[in-house]
Amino acid sequence: MKQDYAHEPYRIKMVEPIRTTDKNQRRKLLRDAGYNVFGLRSEDVYIDLLTDSGTGAMSQEQWAAMMRGDEAYAGSRSYYRLVDVVKDLTNYAYVIPTHQGRGAEQVALPYFVDHSGMCFISNTHFDTTRAHVEIAGAEALDCATGAAYDTETYHPFKGNVNTDRLQQLIQERGAEQIAGIILTLTNNSAGGQPVSLENIRSVHDIARSHGIPIIVDGARIAENAYFIKQREKGYASWSIRELVQEQLRYGDLFLMSAKKDGLVNIGGLIAIREDEALFRHCRTSIVPLEGFPTYGGMSGRDMEATAVGLQEVLDEAYLAHRIDQARFLGDLLREAGIPIQWPTGGHAVFVDCARFAPHIPYYRFPAQSVTNALYIESGVRGVEIGSLLLGRDPRTQKNLQSPLELMRLTIPRRTYSYHQLRLVAEGVKAVYRQREKLKGYVFEYEPPVLRHFTARLKPE
Ligand SMILES: *Cc1c(COP(=O)(O)O)cnc(C)c1O
Repeated sequence: MKQDYAHEPYRIKMVEPIRTTDKNQRRKLLRDAGYNVFGLRSEDVYIDLLTDSGTGAMSQEQWAAMMRGDEAYAGSRSYYRLVDVVKDLTNYAYVIPTHQGRGAEQVALPYFVDHSGMCFISNTHFDTTRAHVEIAGAEALDCATGAAYDTETYHPFKGNVNTDRLQQLIQERGAEQIAGIILTLTNNSAGGQPVSLENIRSVHDIARSHGIPIIVDGARIAENAYFIKQREKGYASWSIRELVQEQLRYGDLFLMSAKKDGLVNIGGLIAIREDEALFRHCRTSIVPLEGFPTYGGMSGRDMEATAVGLQEVLDEAYLAHRIDQARFLGDLLREAGIPIQWPTGGHAVFVDCARFAPHIPYYRFPAQSVTNALYIESGVRGVEIGSLLLGRDPRTQKNLQSPLELMRLTIPRRTYSYHQLRLVAEGVKAVYRQREKLKGYVFEYEPPVLRHFTARLKPE
């Protein structure tokens, strides 16, 4: 490797065999799947970069901890172990487990919506967060820095909130109409891009002056800490734990999908700084939605694994390797002239398919075309994040045009080698060489909601 990329801070103790297929098999498999990679069996995928959510490998300590899981319905020992770890990490008073991140959103967010016409403002709402904001009867307003939409220009913190726009929105709407400000760390939908501590503090100052609560959506808060340590002046000597704590110092509520930086396959968390009324709300509504408050949808063994994962994720050697895997793949693509969101974020490489296949209009889904071609070329499964995902205008029924047409190549944690990522890059490069031949797609079947999951397509 030309540059220095961080080495694996682990060795392999258990392996999961994967199989290769040939191009003719994959052509047929993809056709049968309706030209939609969500319809493929994972067995027919060689390298699966669909998501980093719950797809990583657990450590020996996590597997060992699972044996100690206490499956008591109420007051499980494993619950108390998890609470201790989370309190220690957050310095927050109350902790409730949930089955995953969206469970935490569903339980906690309605608390903040007490009259009509309210909204949440976020750097960018993750899609389930947006859905739960809307289910709670509020509007979800995104307020990301302009740099997030400029894939070519380097900016160290493309995940930041646009604070001028934030102040403007508060003026326009009135502070009493803002249910909360949601800081998504890292900014998943903007490409896993980090948010600086300076930005977090500015948002906090604005929120405080208007009495607006801050909700930290911290699925990748350790990855965000690593970026702060690397890129923001003054933090090079801070530990990851200190940086996680510092980010949380500005929040009132912490929601987490443990399937990301919890290093587990399933799990989520609610942690509350001090608001006892919020805690009572969550403890009451979690029972019908997720489960009794001392398990909240998780088994005892999952709580044990999460307690260990939340400590392992703070290891800088782990994070250096994690972040460098994305950087490595991104660098290989950039060296070949392939347009990507740059710099690469924490968990994925985003290929800019509007520039990759400019001859395919947005309503023929250029990123879907590249994703399908990549699967046929090399058995790699990426995912479209563009106009196919965005859907139609509910009033006019017209296809909406996404500001970016992206193929996301999402890297599971501790799962694939640098060599496998090199194969991914080779596959993307082979597709790029024949990009003029890529065709757009039309619907054979289009579901009325969340169409990208179950749509059936065909080449135009
Ligand atoms: C994954 C994710 C969620 C939702 O969590 P699930 O565990 O998938 O329910 C919420 N916010 C962010 C930023 C996420 O990445």
